[in-house]
Amino acid sequence: MATLVIKDLHVDVDTETGPKEILKGVDLTVSDGQVHAIMGPNGSGKSTLAYSIAGHPKYHITQGSVTLDGVELSALPVDERAKAGLFLGMQYPIEVPGVSMANFLRTAKTALAGQAPKVRTWPKQVRESLARMDLDAEFAERSVNEGFSGGEKKRGEIAQLELLDPSTAILDEIDSGLDIDALKVVAEGIKAFSQRPGKSVLLITHYTRILRYVHPDRVHVFVDGRVAVTGGSELADNLEEKGYEQYVG
Ligand code: ADP
Ligand code: MG
Ligand code: MG
Repeated sequence: MATLVIKDLHVDVDTETGPKEILKGVDLTVSDGQVHAIMGPNGSGKSTLAYSIAGHPKYHITQGSVTLDGVELSALPVDERAKAGLFLGMQYPIEVPGVSMANFLRTAKTALAGQAPKVRTWPKQVRESLARMDLDAEFAERSVNEGFSGGEKKRGEIAQLELLDPSTAILDEIDSGLDIDALKVVAEGIKAFSQRPGKSVLLITHYTRILRYVHPDRVHVFVDGRVAVTGGSELADNLEEKGYEQYVG
């Protein structure tokens, strides 16, 4: 199961001049088996939503709740949120010098599953996931994201998603900076993940291109820290044509 329920979520971010409210009452439910897209102008709080659900220390939930299958995520430390089934694919994936992808994946998988992955099958799974993402096998031995191109980082995130197999994935602009071929590879990866039983996906994007591969059940337009309007995929097409202006102000 993988139902993510966000209720009246208010979030402050720490700034140099003190806390500033960025999320102003977000309501959103992604039911088990669904893919939802969030679109919206720059600065509307999309990444803040992703970070605050994942438990980034700079973001403080001041009101409301986020639950995954009824478990209140905001009460859990970050690693416990991952154990509860949450995965965050970041807009700007972090470089981890000195930690190889293979070690990172094994360590993360061990922490999540409570036991080390099987020596007989795991390396093959890793190789296959990298290959599906058009990443050479040598990426397993490279430091996480270090010196990766933008596209390689994003493809690496999807390989992680496949291998760590969370229940709910929040993917923040996973399609930004990808060329057409990479976009297709990444989108197919997300689609395949979303079709595994008991998954849900929240896909934050600026572009409708990716939604042509990964068909969202719902599309939400995010404006000024809350969901301004929700619809089906026709909403994404409307945005492509007319922009966000109609929902701003
Ligand atoms: P989006 O992802 O939709 O582009 P963000 O969530 O990144 O939007 O940012 C929303 C707003 O919060 C922006 O106005 C941004 O400047 C502000 N913000 C986010 N993080 C910080 C921070 N650490 N310090 C100051 N302002 C921030
Ligand atoms: Mg409110
Ligand atoms: Mg963002």
